[in-house]
Amino acid sequence: MPHQSYFSEALDSVKKEGRYRYFANIERHAGNFPYATHHLEDGTKDTIIVWCSNDYLSMGQHPSVLKAMHEALDKNGAGAGGTRNISGTHHYHVALEKRLADLHERQAALLFTSGYAANEATLATLMSFLPNGVVLSDECNHASIIHGIRYSNAEKRIFKHNDLKDLERQLKGLEYHQPKVIVFESIYSMDGDFAPISKICDLAQKYNAMTYVDEVHAIGLYGKQGMGLVEKAGEEKRITILQSNFGKAVGIIGGYIAASNTIVDFVRSYAPPFIFTTALPPVVVAGALASINHFTHNSDGRAQLWHNVNLLKKNLHRAGFTFFDYGSHIIPLIVGDPLLCKEITDRLFYKHKIYVQPINYPTVRRGTERLRVTPMPCHTPRMIEDFTGACIEVWDFFGLKRQQKIA
Ligand code: PLP
Repeated sequence: MPHQSYFSEALDSVKKEGRYRYFANIERHAGNFPYATHHLEDGTKDTIIVWCSNDYLSMGQHPSVLKAMHEALDKNGAGAGGTRNISGTHHYHVALEKRLADLHERQAALLFTSGYAANEATLATLMSFLPNGVVLSDECNHASIIHGIRYSNAEKRIFKHNDLKDLERQLKGLEYHQPKVIVFESIYSMDGDFAPISKICDLAQKYNAMTYVDEVHAIGLYGKQGMGLVEKAGEEKRITILQSNFGKAVGIIGGYIAASNTIVDFVRSYAPPFIFTTALPPVVVAGALASINHFTHNSDGRAQLWHNVNLLKKNLHRAGFTFFDYGSHIIPLIVGDPLLCKEITDRLFYKHKIYVQPINYPTVRRGTERLRVTPMPCHTPRMIEDFTGACIEVWDFFGLKRQQKIA
């Protein structure tokens, strides 16, 4: 095969750095999550407990979601059968878009095949149509945001993470009438820290900027109805475009934006990654709709999630572990070295049957490699106790201090 050496050299380099990605081959047990079967390379199997899922509310196995999906599958079949424009718009798509628009108090919403596609398509299309447009983007924004902005070819200014002074300094340097968008996430998924939403909206208002917020890690968990941190802050009116997905707390897959009729119609009409791709299968959309209907009417899952998050934090603190704690549902245990991070997670996996994926560069900065722990409502007090005990054993085995080294 010609030219293969370029690729194998690139692979050798990530392996040498300790950030080559090994995928764990698992099968989740519906009805018995967080248990899953781990398929090992030698063909044997093991039962493990998942501690790093983004199915934050375990909605991916909720009976109401499974029922809705079974019904939609029987009614509509497997796929959408086309792009949204050519026979792929089903009744479920229209119903979910309407429901999302209502819940976010926006005029309209638009579905995408993933949260990544929603960010990339919306930002690339929006910014490429704004004459002389500038994007002000938080330095910790997700790859999908970075790539969307890059594809637009618009001028980009990076502001320091959650730093209002730096954001204002950069806004001051721009013409008042020059089109501009401030792009940020409401919660940053690796440290679990929150954006100052209302203060960013104040600055946007003062300097005549649009606002674009990614709520991927907030939907389902925050706000009275679980519709996110914008709902919690009461800032629906001052956010120009809200983006989120169905792959995390909603428990399935897909993405969306919610905005004014004009912006949604514009993206629907001009964004190639929306136009030229097969629509989400109706079965997926039916599941997302059932999941959202459940958690907006019923806060039990959220209450149990927060109970478990607080219990695990308490247990880890009691055992002497320190970690960033911004009061969110994400617990980052920083290791600071990619090879050690992998050794720790391997020992947790193979000795303790606990699955936490190591998180390395470029997902996080070099020197901040970590275990990103995400409790769910389906973790029991016994599992939480065992998780803490396993961490103590593993940290002692490698002779590590439980006080974190924060780079
Ligand atoms: N935005 C953020 C902040 C994310 O963390 C992710 C996924 O990890 C995405 C967008 C992409 O969402 P999806 O997984 O639905 O493509």
